[in-house]
Amino acid sequence: MTADQQPTPTEPGPPAAPRCFGDGDPLYEAYHDDEWGVAVHGDRALFERIALEGFQSGLSWITVLRKRPAFRAAFAGFDPELVARFDDADVARLLADAGIVRNRAKIEATVANARALLALVESGRTLDDVVWSHAPAAPERERPATWTDIPSQTDESRALARELKSLGSRFIGPTTAYASMQACGLVDDHLAGCRVVLGRIAGPDRLAG
Ligand SMILES: [Zn+2]
Repeated sequence: MTADQQPTPTEPGPPAAPRCFGDGDPLYEAYHDDEWGVAVHGDRALFERIALEGFQSGLSWITVLRKRPAFRAAFAGFDPELVARFDDADVARLLADAGIVRNRAKIEATVANARALLALVESGRTLDDVVWSHAPAAPERERPATWTDIPSQTDESRALARELKSLGSRFIGPTTAYASMQACGLVDDHLAGCRVVLGRIAGPDRLAG
């Protein structure tokens, strides 16, 4: 798009405010704008988010995001009841699937975590209950101005990781737990200058474009 083809901004606020991350990549932009920091509820959705954060460990998030459709196909839509029934043949299938992250420990952890989730539900609780019980109490800390203001883990994320481990989950440490808390909206770490934040201040809808 050339300069004279730029659409006229129709909403208040600086239209060119940068994003915290993702600028320039449509998939990453959409994830930043519409998903990161937005509350996620429901055991299937939380299971998927936490599983993908585990797969992300050691990689960039955009790598996992690009592979998300393949992950969903490979892991039966992250339906915990189906993943819990995965056997050695399924693990072999996943290890041969170039569309996903082929890491045996992470794949086996995801299957184990599905089983842990079913046991949790069997005991009368839900993953939603467990995860959201670790949401920080208000007032939350001040909105971060820069990435250096964002912790890699917090007391709440350490407690969440500890509880998930005690319930049989694997591959979930305090850092992955904190990334999951960000992704699932338990915390909102959009930076103070981010267009999502400025859009909320300007009006009920986020800034367009
Ligand atoms: Zn942001």
